Order: sequence, then structure tokens, then C-alpha cells
Amino acid sequence: MNYNVDVLIIGGGAAGLMCAIESGKRGKSVIVVDHSNKIGEKIRISGGGRCNFTNLHTSSNNFLSQNANFSISALTQYTQFDFIKLIKKHNIAYHEKTLGQLFCDDKSQLIIDMLLSECNKANVTIKKEFTVDKVENIDNQYSVISNDDTYISKSLVIATGGLSIPKIGATDFGYKLAKQFNINVINTSPALVPFTFTDEILDMCNQLSGLSFNSKISYENISFEEGMLFTHRGLSGPSILQISSYWNKGNNININFLPNHNFDHTINQKRATSPKQSIVNILSEFLPKRFVSMFCKKYNYSGNISEISKQSIDNIRNHFTKWTIAPKDTEGYRTAEVTRGGVDTDELSSKTMMSKKYHGLFFIGEVVDVTGHLGGHNFQWAWSSGYVAGQYT
Ligand SMILES: Cc1cc2nc3c(=O)[nH]c(=O)nc-3n(C[C@H](O)[C@H](O)[C@H](O)COP(=O)(O)OP(=O)(O)OC[C@H]3O[C@@H](n4cnc5c(N)ncnc54)[C@H](O)[C@@H]3O)c2cc1C
Repeated sequence: MNYNVDVLIIGGGAAGLMCAIESGKRGKSVIVVDHSNKIGEKIRISGGGRCNFTNLHTSSNNFLSQNANFSISALTQYTQFDFIKLIKKHNIAYHEKTLGQLFCDDKSQLIIDMLLSECNKANVTIKKEFTVDKVENIDNQYSVISNDDTYISKSLVIATGGLSIPKIGATDFGYKLAKQFNINVINTSPALVPFTFTDEILDMCNQLSGLSFNSKISYENISFEEGMLFTHRGLSGPSILQISSYWNKGNNININFLPNHNFDHTINQKRATSPKQSIVNILSEFLPKRFVSMFCKKYNYSGNISEISKQSIDNIRNHFTKWTIAPKDTEGYRTAEVTRGGVDTDELSSKTMMSKKYHGLFFIGEVVDVTGHLGGHNFQWAWSSGYVAGQYT
């Protein structure tokens, strides 16, 4: 069978559904196709099941891209406050957890239900378990072949996301399709992902597994100060996930375990007021004792503060405020929240998300080389890029 449609969207995730709603509202006939048997699966598992759906402070500064300004247009055309308005219209209760991060009070499924209800109102057709066999551009129209059916559309929107979590349906479809159309793709790598280590550091992480506290993690001139978590594979927690998006394999990271303390002031004061206090007990006033004991044992720091040499104090300061370590790798796409890199923004209009080479071909959401920080920014990019494409399909 042959079907004609105004807009065909491949990928029924956050960006694809938002684009479908907006295109449908403009009176276009819209079909969303997804190879999965569930729609919006990443939304469902996001934010620990409560979907951190946006961030009060989202701006282009929260994104990595070869073109730092690319996201500005979409984020301005559809802001976090526009999405909050939609959430309020559907009476979805939410709260700010920290740093402007907005989460559902209840399950993420409410966001999926909201999007599906808006799709329904906009007469959007959704086809699950749909395998795309072939895509062609013929006379400025797009032909999408699946089994024996051919769908001819004026606009084709690629919203197939990134490579993270393949077990719930992530594929490289969008990147392959871009290459088929001679559209450049920036190298991809896992981002917002825990680090793995070998040998002695792995051993230490393993023993401290489950412990978390605030730390400042730096890589080159970028730093994040949030929670850090020891795991049995290495290091995780928000500050580690954030820096992983910038990190390149083979390089060091620095960890300041005492970002809000004046180490020298504390040591001088303790020397004067409590000369018999041990270094372990002093540092345990600011950090979990389990961590301090293990760290001091590893580097042979012991004794009362009055007995410790200036040289040792310098070493202790360095170890606790500028611990330099080289991750072996990251946990990869298996656990990464997002994919860094993707369809080159130079190939797209930032105002419409349409390809500069192919009229009517759009790329939106995570498949594009726009990668958000942790904290709801990735969904805001999906909503914003989906919205703008929906105005021009
Ligand atoms: C565990 C986890 C938690 C997260 N939590 C948050 C959070 O709380 N806040 C936040 O902002 N971001 C979060 N993210 C990131 C966020 O989920 C993504 O950035 C966002 O979903 C991207 O939207 P998208 O529509 O571009 O892609 P996706 O949501 O990934 O949707 C892509 C769709 O395309 C379909 N697809 C893929 N290949 C094909 C193909 N070949 N044929 C047909 N269909 C295909 C997929 O089945 C999927 O439905 C999280 C990610 C993960 C993995």
C-alpha cells in the first residue's frame, strides 16, 4: 500500500512527540513511527521514574555543542516556562528538587500520558513496532518504506535520539540516515556516565561503595560541584556525570573533596587549639570518617596534628583538595544518560531544525550535536527543538 502524509516523524520519544503535537495543531496530517512496542520509554525511566522534565535555569550555557550558540533560537522560541504551562494545563503536580530541577511529584508516565493526549487532540497517528527499511528523497518528497508499505511525506523528521541504553531501543538510525544524505555527523561518545577505574583506585571505590558527599570535580577549565558517589565499578554521582560529558579518554580529572573549606586555616587553628588531635579526626569533622580513614591509610597520613611535618601537610592538602586521577574509561552507552556529538549543527537551521541541504528533512532532540548538562536540560532541548520543527514541517 502507498500512503501520503504531510509529516512523517521517525522516533516517538520526547522530541518526536512534541514535534507531532505542534505539526498536528497546524492542521498537518502526521504519522509518528517507532520501532519499539512502547512510546516514550526514556521519559518513563527518566529522573528515577519521576522525570526531571525541565530546569528553571535552562539556557544555551547548559549545552555542549561544536556551535555553542546553536541552541539559543529553539530555547528562546519554546522555553522551560512554556513547557511548565503545558504541565500545569494537565494538572501534573511537580516540585523543584535542587538547582532549578523540576520533577513530577508522581510517576513519569503522567508526562507520556500528557503528550499522547495532546497527540490525540492534534489527530496524530502513532505506529509502534514499525521497522524502516529504506528512506529516499524523490522530487523533494520523502519515501519511507516499511515491509510492503510506502509512506510518502513532504516533511521527514528524524527524532531517533542517541545511543544510550540500547536495551530500551536506542539505535544509530539517525546518524546513518544523516550520512546517507551526506550530512556530517560529529563523533559520538557516551556522556553523563559514571567513570570506571583499575587496580588500586577501583579497590578503594569498591570498599567505599555507596558513600556519597559533595565534591568539586575539574577537567581542564571546567568544574562541577555537586554530589559524588563511590560505586563498586568506580565513581558516579551528579558532579562525576557532569564532568564525564567533557572528559576525553586518557586524561586526568581533579577532585577537591573539601571545596568549601579553607584547609590551611583549619590546620593552623587546630595546631594552636588542639595539637593532640589526629589528622584523621580533624578531617573527619568535614568528611565521612570511613573515607578519611581509608584515604589517610592509603597515603600513610597519621599522627597528631602537632607532629605532622609541613611537607606532609602539603601532601595532605594536595590529596584532599586536588586529587589527580585518570579514569580508565566510562561505563559506556549501557548506563550513559545521553550521547555527546551527533548531527552537525552546521548542517541545520537553528531557527527551524531543517537540513540546509534537503528541504523538508529535519533532525531534532538528542540525535543532534546538542548535549545538555544533567538536571532537566536534555528534555528541554527535546521539547524546544521538537516545538520549532513542528512550526516549519
Ligand atoms: C536513564 C536515563 C535517565 C534520564 N533522565 C533524564 C532526566 O531526568 N531529565 C532529562 O532532561 N533528561 C534525562 N535523560 C535524557 C533524556 O531521556 C533524553 O535526552 C531524551 O529522551 C532525548 O529525547 P529524544 O526524543 O531525542 O530521544 P529518545 O527519547 O531517545 O527517543 C527516540 C525514539 O526513537 C526510537 N527509535 C530509535 N531508533 C529507531 C529506529 N531505527 N526506528 C524507529 N524508531 C527508533 C526509540 O525507540 C525512541 O522511542 C535520561 C536518559 C536516560 C537514559
